[in-house]
Amino acid sequence: MTEPCYSKNPDNGIAISSLIRAFHCPRQYFFYKDIPSKPAIQYSICKLVSCAEKGSTEEELWYTLHMIHPEISEDKRHFLRDCLMAMEHAPVRPWTETDISVRSERAGIHGLLDKYHAQNGEYTLTRCTMAPKTGCWAEDAIRTAAFLLCIEEAGAVKTPGIYIEYVRSGIIRYYEPTPKDRRRVLHLIQQVKEIDNGEFPHKPLNPPCSRCRFSDRCAQNAPRRLSFLLKK
Ligand code: SF4
Repeated sequence: MTEPCYSKNPDNGIAISSLIRAFHCPRQYFFYKDIPSKPAIQYSICKLVSCAEKGSTEEELWYTLHMIHPEISEDKRHFLRDCLMAMEHAPVRPWTETDISVRSERAGIHGLLDKYHAQNGEYTLTRCTMAPKTGCWAEDAIRTAAFLLCIEEAGAVKTPGIYIEYVRSGIIRYYEPTPKDRRRVLHLIQQVKEIDNGEFPHKPLNPPCSRCRFSDRCAQNAPRRLSFLLKK
């Protein structure tokens, strides 16, 4: 995943999570960018399961979760149980470091990578969505491309791809970003910069409007020119 908070300080560059938000819909990014975001409990659960020692029990992990999220409610236990069952026989990626901060000065982006294994030189992203039938979701292809830009710039490890753990499905995929993914990342960086500078973005071709909490505000903002014409 990775980092759930969006960058508010332009000096820090753009958080990779902001690129993903803009990928879903640039207008959603426009509306979301000033709203404080909280780390998602589901992500914490998936992360814990992904990094847990083999044989860890539900009780042990629930105890740890309480320390991370003291406010966690009992009804999240079933999600933890489902993840544990899904990952029981999955080839979980090993790790020696977790939550690794990466950044690309050249691209002006930064993010938090879930896992790194020093001996293998492998990076892993942990996702809490179900896995697609094949490959990875389009947003994960973009994540992977953005993180690789950062890793490549650091130059320490050369790798053409990143593992993606779909914890809820117990499925691990390896993805090598294509030039198209990289182009999309560069385009999104440009879009986010323009929005951060105050531009209200165009509506994209297929936005996810049916499940968008901003549909009213979006409708008010969008048709300025049209209402201007109608008034005449
Ligand atoms: S209503 Fe549609 S176009 Fe507007 S912000 Fe939401 S998803 Fe984007």
